Amino acid sequence: MKQYLLIGSGLIGRLLAWRLTLKGHRVSILSSDDQVGMGSAGYIAAAMISPATEAVQTEAKVKEIGNISAAIWPQWLADLPEPIFYQSNGTLVVAHAGDQAEMERFTKRAQHVLSDNDYTQLSKAELKEKELQLSQQFDNALFFDDEACLDNRHLYSQLTTILSSSPLCDWQQCEEIDSLSDGVLEALSQQYFSCSSGAFDEVIDCRGNGAKKDLEGLRSIRGEVIRVHAPEVNFKHAVRLIHPRYPMYLAPRPNNEYFLGATVIESDDMSPVSVRSGLELMSALYTINSGFAEARVLEMASHCRPAMIDNMPVVKRTNWGLQVNGLYRHGYLFSPAIISDVLALLEGNEQAIKFGEFMHV
Ligand SMILES: Cc1cc2nc3c(=O)[nH]c(=O)nc-3n(C[C@H](O)[C@H](O)[C@H](O)COP(=O)(O)OP(=O)(O)OC[C@H]3O[C@@H](n4cnc5c(N)ncnc54)[C@H](O)[C@@H]3O)c2cc1C
Repeated sequence: MKQYLLIGSGLIGRLLAWRLTLKGHRVSILSSDDQVGMGSAGYIAAAMISPATEAVQTEAKVKEIGNISAAIWPQWLADLPEPIFYQSNGTLVVAHAGDQAEMERFTKRAQHVLSDNDYTQLSKAELKEKELQLSQQFDNALFFDDEACLDNRHLYSQLTTILSSSPLCDWQQCEEIDSLSDGVLEALSQQYFSCSSGAFDEVIDCRGNGAKKDLEGLRSIRGEVIRVHAPEVNFKHAVRLIHPRYPMYLAPRPNNEYFLGATVIESDDMSPVSVRSGLELMSALYTINSGFAEARVLEMASHCRPAMIDNMPVVKRTNWGLQVNGLYRHGYLFSPAIISDVLALLEGNEQAIKFGEFMHV
Protein backbone atom coordinates (compact mmCIF):
# COMPACT_ATOMS: atom_id res chain seq x y z
CA MET A 1 0.00 0.00 0.00
CA LYS A 2 1.31 3.45 -0.93
CA GLN A 3 0.29 6.92 0.20
CA TYR A 4 -0.42 9.56 -2.45
CA LEU A 5 -1.14 13.26 -2.19
CA LEU A 6 -3.35 14.59 -5.00
CA ILE A 7 -3.73 18.34 -5.48
CA GLY A 8 -7.00 19.22 -7.24
CA SER A 9 -10.27 17.30 -7.19
CA GLY A 10 -11.66 17.86 -10.68
CA LEU A 11 -11.97 15.19 -13.33
CA ILE A 12 -8.40 13.87 -13.20
CA GLY A 13 -8.01 14.27 -9.43
CA ARG A 14 -11.14 12.37 -8.48
CA LEU A 15 -10.81 9.65 -11.14
CA LEU A 16 -7.18 9.04 -10.18
CA ALA A 17 -8.02 9.03 -6.45
CA TRP A 18 -10.81 6.51 -7.08
CA ARG A 19 -8.65 4.16 -9.14
CA LEU A 20 -5.81 4.37 -6.57
CA THR A 21 -8.15 3.48 -3.68
CA LEU A 22 -9.52 0.58 -5.75
CA LYS A 23 -5.95 -0.71 -5.88
CA GLY A 24 -5.76 -0.45 -2.08
CA HIS A 25 -3.63 2.71 -1.86
CA ARG A 26 -4.23 5.60 0.53
CA VAL A 27 -4.94 9.02 -0.99
CA SER A 28 -4.98 12.47 0.53
CA ILE A 29 -6.76 15.06 -1.61
CA LEU A 30 -6.17 18.77 -1.25
CA SER A 31 -8.23 21.07 -3.42
CA SER A 32 -9.63 24.58 -3.45
CA ASP A 33 -12.80 23.08 -4.92
CA ASP A 34 -15.81 21.91 -2.93
CA GLN A 35 -16.51 18.18 -2.97
CA VAL A 36 -19.34 18.63 -5.49
CA GLY A 37 -16.69 19.74 -7.96
CA MET A 38 -18.32 22.97 -9.08
CA GLY A 39 -14.92 24.65 -9.47
CA SER A 40 -13.74 22.18 -12.07
CA ALA A 41 -13.97 22.11 -15.87
CA GLY A 42 -15.09 18.50 -15.66
CA TYR A 43 -18.29 19.55 -13.85
CA ILE A 44 -19.30 21.96 -16.64
CA ALA A 45 -18.28 19.67 -19.51
CA ALA A 46 -20.70 18.07 -21.96
CA ALA A 47 -18.76 14.80 -21.44
CA MET A 48 -18.84 13.69 -25.05
CA ILE A 49 -16.64 10.68 -25.74
CA SER A 50 -16.23 11.14 -29.43
CA PRO A 51 -12.89 9.86 -30.76
CA ALA A 52 -13.64 10.12 -34.48
CA THR A 53 -15.49 13.44 -34.73
CA GLU A 54 -12.94 15.08 -32.42
CA ALA A 55 -10.11 13.67 -34.55
CA VAL A 56 -11.69 15.27 -37.61
CA GLN A 57 -11.85 18.62 -35.83
CA THR A 58 -8.43 18.37 -34.16
CA GLU A 59 -5.88 15.71 -35.11
CA ALA A 60 -5.65 12.01 -35.98
CA LYS A 61 -3.94 10.89 -32.76
CA VAL A 62 -7.04 11.92 -30.83
CA LYS A 63 -8.87 8.91 -32.27
CA GLU A 64 -6.22 6.46 -31.10
CA ILE A 65 -6.24 7.72 -27.48
CA GLY A 66 -10.01 8.20 -27.53
CA ASN A 67 -10.68 4.65 -28.69
CA ILE A 68 -8.62 3.25 -25.80
CA SER A 69 -10.62 5.35 -23.34
CA ALA A 70 -13.93 4.45 -24.97
CA ALA A 71 -13.12 0.79 -24.38
CA ILE A 72 -12.19 1.43 -20.72
CA TRP A 73 -15.15 3.63 -19.73
CA PRO A 74 -17.81 0.86 -19.60
CA GLN A 75 -15.48 -1.26 -17.42
CA TRP A 76 -14.86 1.63 -15.03
CA LEU A 77 -18.53 2.58 -14.87
CA ALA A 78 -19.34 -1.04 -13.96
CA ASP A 79 -17.19 -0.52 -10.83
CA LEU A 80 -19.58 2.17 -9.56
CA PRO A 81 -22.40 1.30 -7.15
CA GLU A 82 -25.11 2.90 -9.35
CA PRO A 83 -25.51 2.68 -13.12
CA ILE A 84 -24.49 5.87 -14.92
CA PHE A 85 -26.22 7.16 -18.04
CA TYR A 86 -23.72 6.20 -20.75
CA GLN A 87 -25.24 6.59 -24.19
CA SER A 88 -23.19 4.87 -26.84
CA ASN A 89 -25.54 5.19 -29.82
CA GLY A 90 -23.08 7.27 -31.82
CA THR A 91 -23.01 10.81 -33.17
CA LEU A 92 -24.94 12.33 -36.07
CA VAL A 93 -23.20 15.21 -37.82
CA VAL A 94 -25.52 17.59 -39.68
CA ALA A 95 -25.43 20.96 -41.44
CA HIS A 96 -28.17 23.21 -42.73
CA ALA A 97 -28.72 23.57 -46.49
CA GLY A 98 -26.83 26.90 -46.55
CA ASP A 99 -23.81 25.37 -44.80
CA GLN A 100 -23.20 22.40 -47.10
CA ALA A 101 -19.80 23.78 -48.11
CA GLU A 102 -18.72 23.45 -44.45
CA MET A 103 -20.18 19.95 -44.39
CA GLU A 104 -18.18 19.04 -47.50
CA ARG A 105 -15.01 20.30 -45.83
CA PHE A 106 -15.78 18.24 -42.73
CA THR A 107 -16.42 15.16 -44.90
CA LYS A 108 -13.16 15.63 -46.81
CA ARG A 109 -11.27 15.96 -43.56
CA ALA A 110 -12.98 12.79 -42.25
CA GLN A 111 -11.86 10.98 -45.41
CA HIS A 112 -8.33 12.22 -44.80
CA VAL A 113 -8.07 11.51 -41.06
CA LEU A 114 -10.29 8.45 -40.55
CA SER A 115 -10.88 5.11 -42.19
CA ASP A 116 -14.01 4.36 -44.22
CA ASN A 117 -15.61 2.20 -41.54
CA ASP A 118 -15.45 5.01 -38.94
CA TYR A 119 -18.53 6.69 -40.41
CA THR A 120 -21.45 6.32 -42.82
CA GLN A 121 -23.05 8.90 -45.07
CA LEU A 122 -26.82 8.98 -44.53
CA SER A 123 -29.47 10.13 -47.00
CA LYS A 124 -32.56 11.94 -45.71
CA ALA A 125 -34.49 8.65 -45.66
CA GLU A 126 -31.74 6.93 -43.71
CA LEU A 127 -31.51 9.85 -41.30
CA LYS A 128 -35.27 9.69 -40.85
CA GLU A 129 -34.96 6.06 -39.85
CA LYS A 130 -32.17 6.75 -37.39
CA GLU A 131 -33.34 10.02 -35.80
CA LEU A 132 -36.77 11.03 -37.00
CA GLN A 133 -36.85 14.48 -35.38
CA LEU A 134 -33.49 15.42 -36.87
CA SER A 135 -34.66 14.61 -40.39
CA GLN A 136 -37.26 17.39 -40.11
CA GLN A 137 -34.50 20.05 -40.46
CA PHE A 138 -31.68 18.24 -42.25
CA ASP A 139 -31.38 16.48 -45.61
CA ASN A 140 -28.34 14.31 -44.91
CA ALA A 141 -25.92 13.39 -42.16
CA LEU A 142 -22.69 11.63 -41.34
CA PHE A 143 -23.09 8.90 -38.75
CA PHE A 144 -20.23 7.99 -36.41
CA ASP A 145 -21.14 4.72 -34.74
CA ASP A 146 -18.50 4.36 -32.02
CA GLU A 147 -19.16 7.47 -29.98
CA ALA A 148 -20.75 8.07 -26.59
CA CYS A 149 -21.52 10.58 -23.89
CA LEU A 150 -22.02 10.18 -20.18
CA ASP A 151 -23.78 11.90 -17.31
CA ASN A 152 -20.77 13.61 -15.73
CA ARG A 153 -22.71 15.15 -12.84
CA HIS A 154 -23.85 11.70 -11.72
CA LEU A 155 -20.30 10.40 -12.13
CA TYR A 156 -18.98 13.28 -10.00
CA SER A 157 -21.58 12.74 -7.27
CA GLN A 158 -20.88 9.01 -7.08
CA LEU A 159 -17.14 9.59 -6.86
CA THR A 160 -17.73 12.20 -4.13
CA THR A 161 -19.73 9.67 -2.11
CA ILE A 162 -17.21 6.87 -2.63
CA LEU A 163 -14.14 8.96 -1.82
CA SER A 164 -15.58 10.96 1.08
CA SER A 165 -16.72 7.77 2.81
CA SER A 166 -13.62 5.68 2.02
CA PRO A 167 -11.29 4.90 4.95
CA LEU A 168 -8.47 5.10 2.37
CA CYS A 169 -9.20 8.72 1.46
CA ASP A 170 -8.68 11.94 3.41
CA TRP A 171 -10.15 14.86 1.44
CA GLN A 172 -9.48 18.44 2.56
CA GLN A 173 -10.55 21.76 1.05
CA CYS A 174 -7.92 24.51 1.06
CA GLU A 175 -7.22 27.98 -0.28
CA GLU A 176 -5.95 28.09 -3.88
CA ILE A 177 -2.40 26.78 -4.06
CA ASP A 178 -0.62 29.19 -6.33
CA SER A 179 2.62 27.32 -6.82
CA LEU A 180 4.10 24.06 -5.55
CA SER A 181 7.56 23.36 -4.19
CA ASP A 182 9.07 21.07 -1.55
CA GLY A 183 8.68 23.83 1.03
CA VAL A 184 5.04 24.55 0.17
CA LEU A 185 4.21 20.83 0.21
CA GLU A 186 5.84 20.41 3.61
CA ALA A 187 3.78 23.29 5.05
CA LEU A 188 0.53 22.02 3.47
CA SER A 189 1.12 18.44 4.68
CA GLN A 190 1.61 19.68 8.23
CA GLN A 191 -1.37 22.04 8.10
CA TYR A 192 -3.95 19.71 6.55
CA PHE A 193 -2.78 16.17 7.25
CA SER A 194 -0.59 16.59 10.35
CA CYS A 195 2.29 14.81 8.66
CA SER A 196 5.49 15.59 6.83
CA SER A 197 5.41 15.71 3.01
CA GLY A 198 7.94 12.86 3.22
CA ALA A 199 5.07 10.64 4.33
CA PHE A 200 3.75 10.66 0.74
CA ASP A 201 5.19 8.26 -1.81
CA GLU A 202 4.21 10.65 -4.60
CA VAL A 203 2.53 14.03 -5.03
CA ILE A 204 0.35 14.37 -8.13
CA ASP A 205 -0.68 17.79 -9.31
CA CYS A 206 -4.16 17.71 -10.90
CA ARG A 207 -5.00 21.43 -10.65
CA GLY A 208 -5.88 21.87 -14.33
CA ASN A 209 -5.97 25.62 -15.07
CA GLY A 210 -4.67 26.33 -11.56
CA ALA A 211 -1.21 24.92 -12.31
CA LYS A 212 -0.03 27.68 -14.68
CA LYS A 213 2.78 28.94 -12.46
CA ASP A 214 4.30 25.44 -12.34
CA LEU A 215 3.72 24.27 -15.91
CA GLU A 216 5.21 26.33 -18.69
CA GLY A 217 2.98 26.67 -21.72
CA LEU A 218 -0.25 25.81 -19.93
CA ARG A 219 -3.08 28.04 -21.16
CA SER A 220 -6.84 28.29 -20.72
CA ILE A 221 -9.55 27.95 -23.37
CA ARG A 222 -12.90 29.32 -22.26
CA GLY A 223 -15.99 27.23 -22.97
CA GLU A 224 -19.66 28.05 -22.42
CA VAL A 225 -22.55 25.60 -22.32
CA ILE A 226 -26.28 25.62 -21.74
CA ARG A 227 -28.37 22.82 -20.25
CA VAL A 228 -32.00 22.57 -21.24
CA HIS A 229 -35.01 20.40 -20.51
CA ALA A 230 -36.84 19.69 -23.77
CA PRO A 231 -39.81 17.33 -23.28
CA GLU A 232 -40.70 17.64 -27.00
CA VAL A 233 -37.30 16.42 -28.22
CA ASN A 234 -36.32 12.76 -28.00
CA PHE A 235 -32.89 12.39 -29.57
CA LYS A 236 -31.24 8.99 -29.16
CA HIS A 237 -27.90 10.21 -30.52
CA ALA A 238 -25.40 12.93 -29.81
CA VAL A 239 -25.56 15.61 -32.51
CA ARG A 240 -22.91 17.85 -34.01
CA LEU A 241 -24.00 20.88 -35.96
CA ILE A 242 -21.50 22.02 -38.56
CA HIS A 243 -21.76 25.78 -38.77
CA PRO A 244 -19.35 28.42 -40.12
CA ARG A 245 -19.57 30.62 -37.01
CA TYR A 246 -20.69 28.44 -34.15
CA PRO A 247 -20.08 24.70 -34.55
CA MET A 248 -22.01 23.02 -31.73
CA TYR A 249 -22.59 19.66 -30.18
CA LEU A 250 -25.65 18.46 -28.35
CA ALA A 251 -25.09 15.84 -25.68
CA PRO A 252 -28.20 14.04 -24.42
CA ARG A 253 -28.82 13.41 -20.74
CA PRO A 254 -31.56 11.33 -19.04
CA ASN A 255 -35.14 12.66 -18.91
CA ASN A 256 -34.99 14.82 -22.06
CA GLU A 257 -32.20 17.02 -20.80
CA TYR A 258 -29.49 18.18 -23.20
CA PHE A 259 -26.14 19.89 -22.86
CA LEU A 260 -25.36 22.21 -25.75
CA GLY A 261 -21.82 23.44 -26.15
CA ALA A 262 -19.51 24.81 -26.45
CA THR A 263 -17.76 28.02 -27.31
CA VAL A 264 -13.98 27.77 -27.77
CA ILE A 265 -12.40 31.08 -26.81
CA GLU A 266 -8.69 31.62 -26.21
CA SER A 267 -9.09 33.18 -22.76
CA ASP A 268 -8.76 32.45 -19.05
CA ASP A 269 -11.94 34.41 -18.31
CA MET A 270 -14.19 32.32 -16.05
CA SER A 271 -16.94 34.91 -15.71
CA PRO A 272 -20.54 33.91 -16.54
CA VAL A 273 -21.78 33.21 -20.09
CA SER A 274 -21.86 36.32 -22.30
CA VAL A 275 -25.09 37.51 -23.94
CA ARG A 276 -23.54 36.93 -27.38
CA SER A 277 -22.54 33.33 -26.62
CA GLY A 278 -25.88 32.64 -24.98
CA LEU A 279 -27.70 33.94 -28.07
CA GLU A 280 -25.52 31.92 -30.45
CA LEU A 281 -25.94 28.74 -28.44
CA MET A 282 -29.68 29.16 -28.19
CA SER A 283 -30.22 30.05 -31.84
CA ALA A 284 -28.14 27.04 -32.86
CA LEU A 285 -30.28 24.89 -30.59
CA TYR A 286 -33.52 26.18 -32.04
CA THR A 287 -32.34 25.51 -35.60
CA ILE A 288 -31.60 21.86 -34.77
CA ASN A 289 -35.21 21.19 -33.91
CA SER A 290 -38.17 23.49 -33.35
CA GLY A 291 -39.12 21.36 -30.34
CA PHE A 292 -36.38 23.23 -28.50
CA ALA A 293 -38.43 26.45 -28.70
CA GLU A 294 -40.36 25.48 -25.59
CA ALA A 295 -37.36 23.95 -23.84
CA ARG A 296 -36.53 25.37 -20.45
CA VAL A 297 -33.03 26.71 -19.82
CA LEU A 298 -31.87 24.98 -16.65
CA GLU A 299 -28.34 26.31 -16.59
CA MET A 300 -25.84 28.46 -18.44
CA ALA A 301 -22.28 27.87 -17.33
CA SER A 302 -18.72 28.56 -18.28
CA HIS A 303 -15.27 27.29 -17.37
CA CYS A 304 -11.87 26.95 -18.99
CA ARG A 305 -10.20 23.94 -20.51
CA PRO A 306 -6.55 23.52 -19.48
CA ALA A 307 -4.46 23.17 -22.65
CA MET A 308 -0.84 22.95 -23.77
CA ILE A 309 0.33 24.55 -27.01
CA ASP A 310 -0.39 21.37 -29.05
CA ASN A 311 -3.69 20.73 -27.22
CA MET A 312 -2.41 17.31 -26.15
CA PRO A 313 -2.11 16.02 -22.57
CA VAL A 314 1.09 16.14 -20.61
CA VAL A 315 2.52 14.05 -17.76
CA LYS A 316 5.58 15.69 -16.32
CA ARG A 317 7.93 14.74 -13.52
CA THR A 318 9.20 17.66 -11.43
CA ASN A 319 11.49 17.60 -8.43
CA TRP A 320 8.44 17.68 -6.10
CA GLY A 321 6.02 15.34 -7.91
CA LEU A 322 4.11 14.44 -11.02
CA GLN A 323 1.94 16.80 -13.07
CA VAL A 324 -1.00 15.51 -15.11
CA ASN A 325 -2.54 18.25 -17.19
CA GLY A 326 -3.45 19.69 -20.60
CA LEU A 327 -6.56 17.58 -21.17
CA TYR A 328 -8.05 20.48 -23.17
CA ARG A 329 -11.48 19.54 -24.61
CA HIS A 330 -10.69 15.84 -24.18
CA GLY A 331 -10.88 15.26 -20.44
CA TYR A 332 -13.58 12.58 -20.76
CA LEU A 333 -12.31 11.38 -24.09
CA PHE A 334 -8.77 10.82 -22.77
CA SER A 335 -8.86 10.35 -19.01
CA PRO A 336 -9.17 6.53 -18.78
CA ALA A 337 -6.23 6.11 -21.18
CA ILE A 338 -4.10 8.77 -19.49
CA ILE A 339 -4.94 7.64 -15.96
CA SER A 340 -4.17 4.00 -16.85
CA ASP A 341 -0.80 5.25 -18.08
CA VAL A 342 -0.22 7.22 -14.89
CA LEU A 343 -1.17 4.21 -12.73
CA ALA A 344 1.39 2.09 -14.60
CA LEU A 345 3.97 4.84 -14.13
CA LEU A 346 3.24 4.93 -10.39
CA GLU A 347 3.84 1.18 -10.34
CA GLY A 348 7.34 1.86 -11.61
CA ASN A 349 6.88 1.40 -15.34
CA GLU A 350 8.58 4.49 -16.81
CA GLN A 351 7.84 3.21 -20.31
CA ALA A 352 4.14 3.32 -19.53
CA ILE A 353 3.38 6.74 -20.91
CA LYS A 354 2.06 6.09 -24.36
CA PHE A 355 -0.42 8.89 -24.77
CA GLY A 356 0.51 11.92 -22.69
CA GLU A 357 3.77 13.51 -23.61
CA PHE A 358 6.01 12.40 -20.74
CA MET A 359 8.72 14.80 -19.74
CA HIS A 360 11.37 14.77 -17.02
CA VAL A 361 12.67 18.09 -15.67
C1 LIG B 1 -17.43 23.92 -21.57
C2 LIG B 1 -16.60 22.68 -21.57
C3 LIG B 1 -17.03 21.56 -22.26
C4 LIG B 1 -16.27 20.40 -22.25
N1 LIG B 1 -16.75 19.30 -22.92
C5 LIG B 1 -15.99 18.17 -22.94
C6 LIG B 1 -16.47 17.03 -23.63
O1 LIG B 1 -17.59 17.02 -24.17
N2 LIG B 1 -15.68 15.92 -23.67
C7 LIG B 1 -14.45 15.89 -23.06
O2 LIG B 1 -13.77 14.86 -23.16
N3 LIG B 1 -13.99 16.96 -22.38
C8 LIG B 1 -14.72 18.10 -22.30
N4 LIG B 1 -14.26 19.20 -21.65
C9 LIG B 1 -12.89 19.17 -21.10
C10 LIG B 1 -12.77 18.58 -19.70
O3 LIG B 1 -13.74 19.11 -18.85
C11 LIG B 1 -11.36 18.90 -19.16
O4 LIG B 1 -10.40 18.42 -20.09
C12 LIG B 1 -11.11 18.24 -17.82
O5 LIG B 1 -12.07 18.65 -16.89
C13 LIG B 1 -9.71 18.57 -17.29
O6 LIG B 1 -9.56 17.87 -16.08
P1 LIG B 1 -8.61 18.40 -14.92
O7 LIG B 1 -8.83 17.51 -13.75
O8 LIG B 1 -7.23 18.57 -15.46
O9 LIG B 1 -9.14 19.88 -14.59
P2 LIG B 1 -10.46 20.27 -13.80
O10 LIG B 1 -11.56 19.33 -14.12
O11 LIG B 1 -10.69 21.72 -14.05
O12 LIG B 1 -10.05 20.07 -12.26
C14 LIG B 1 -9.06 20.87 -11.63
C15 LIG B 1 -9.33 20.85 -10.13
O13 LIG B 1 -8.29 21.51 -9.42
C16 LIG B 1 -8.84 22.51 -8.57
N5 LIG B 1 -7.89 23.61 -8.53
C17 LIG B 1 -7.63 24.48 -9.56
N6 LIG B 1 -6.70 25.37 -9.18
C18 LIG B 1 -6.36 25.05 -7.92
C19 LIG B 1 -5.43 25.61 -7.01
N7 LIG B 1 -4.68 26.68 -7.34
N8 LIG B 1 -5.29 25.04 -5.78
C20 LIG B 1 -6.04 23.95 -5.44
N9 LIG B 1 -6.94 23.39 -6.27
C21 LIG B 1 -7.10 23.93 -7.50
C22 LIG B 1 -10.13 22.92 -9.27
O14 LIG B 1 -11.03 23.57 -8.38
C23 LIG B 1 -10.63 21.57 -9.75
O15 LIG B 1 -11.29 20.86 -8.74
C24 LIG B 1 -15.02 20.36 -21.59
C25 LIG B 1 -14.60 21.48 -20.86
C26 LIG B 1 -15.38 22.63 -20.85
C27 LIG B 1 -14.92 23.82 -20.04
